[in-house]
Amino acid sequence: MPNQTVDVKASLFVNEIPKWGEPYPNILNRQSVLACLTDYIVQVNYNGYKPDPRKVLAVRTSDRTASLRNAATPLRQEVYYFIEGEIFPEVGTTRLQDGQPPAKLAEILLERSYEQLYIWTAYDFTKGSPPGFRKPFDHPLIHKGSPSPNPEQKTRNHEVVTGTNPLFFHPDPVPRNVIGQDITPDVSADRILEYVSQLVRTDFRNALPEGDNPPIWGDPLIGIASADDLLFERFQDPEVVGPGHRLPYEWLPGARSVISVFLPFTEHISKNYTKEQRYSAIEFSSGKWNGSKFLNVVRRALIRFASQHGGLAIAPNIDPRYDSDEWRPFWSERHTAFAAGLGTFGLHQNFISEKGCLGRLCSVVTTLNIVPTKRIYSDIYGYCLYAFDGSCHACIERCPTGAVSDVGKIADRCETHGNKDHFKEWGYGSCGHCSTLIPCSREIPGKIRNTLQALL
Ligand code: SF4
Ligand code: SF4
Repeated sequence: MPNQTVDVKASLFVNEIPKWGEPYPNILNRQSVLACLTDYIVQVNYNGYKPDPRKVLAVRTSDRTASLRNAATPLRQEVYYFIEGEIFPEVGTTRLQDGQPPAKLAEILLERSYEQLYIWTAYDFTKGSPPGFRKPFDHPLIHKGSPSPNPEQKTRNHEVVTGTNPLFFHPDPVPRNVIGQDITPDVSADRILEYVSQLVRTDFRNALPEGDNPPIWGDPLIGIASADDLLFERFQDPEVVGPGHRLPYEWLPGARSVISVFLPFTEHISKNYTKEQRYSAIEFSSGKWNGSKFLNVVRRALIRFASQHGGLAIAPNIDPRYDSDEWRPFWSERHTAFAAGLGTFGLHQNFISEKGCLGRLCSVVTTLNIVPTKRIYSDIYGYCLYAFDGSCHACIERCPTGAVSDVGKIADRCETHGNKDHFKEWGYGSCGHCSTLIPCSREIPGKIRNTLQALL
């Protein structure tokens, strides 16, 4: 366990919700939420108490006012929250006491939940925490960087494979994690996988707003890293993420594990994407944009899951302390997934999992004790054919702007959010050529998989 300079007892007081009153230009309209809750309470208490699990609070991005709706197809630029089960998880919360006016109960409940709604909607509407909404860490940056300069570990001790470009950045190998036999887990990784899989299969927000509303995400993968894994210190090196990458216990004092989730896009999202087209299909752009909101649903669900199992959790990417230092994030989902045994990077710098690179990642840091996932790779480009034997350049050929090259990716040339001119009439845009129709789109390339299996 690394030396922690943070008081572990403070973990009891850690809260993902910022203090109300902090400056934020577009806060959720409180009066409209109060009106919805009052209406809901009147309806479910009429003629006996019948909580209605279909009713949602729908919040519009344009003016951040809420309305009471029946659960239906999500509209574009709107966020839904189930009133029963999600905003008020305990049964009976919305039941009126004898003689209690509905508006009074609504006020009490709003007081309890408003900050949560406020942060949920704010984060669901934005790609990251906007300026003015961020909170600093309440302690100075803990910078550790690479663990003790052991020459064995600091020097690359394996040959660069024939065929790969010597200019391509080949960092030091990464040790495989050793899983102790003495862990008494609070919950198993299988249970978490089951929980997230159920959410992905049943939550109606996992749907494209267009067409027949097909699901955006398929069955997830789950990886677990120990919060003490020395890789998190290595991520602070300038050539990895940077010194601002915070350690798990800085996000959450007493952290023991990090849960990382890979969500693959369904075939609906990528099937209309052909090699000939210059710009991405609407399904892909929409899936990428609207699917990002669902990542926050998963993050919040895992926070609730941790509390149901007697622990705490924080999702760094929706935490008010999340920020970046000159584009170097305080928490990298891809690096975290690498530590959690989910996969490696590719030449295109996307993350390649067992289900390929066509997907997205999210994670939470938790106080729960969970057995880490074994890392079967030691190279950060372990699942990429270019790094393996130089036999693939597909992502270089797919990139329409020349952003992917055989020496890495040129960020300035990347149109990841879509070509500005082409997508100016759309609500959202994307590119995605470098993750579609390539050998690592949907799997670990076969040659590498066979080699790994032979090693195991
Ligand atoms: S397309 Fe080929 S070179 Fe590019 S990341 Fe995938 S395996 Fe590597
Ligand atoms: S997102 Fe598009 S522009 Fe950016 S590297 Fe991939 S293919 Fe190239």
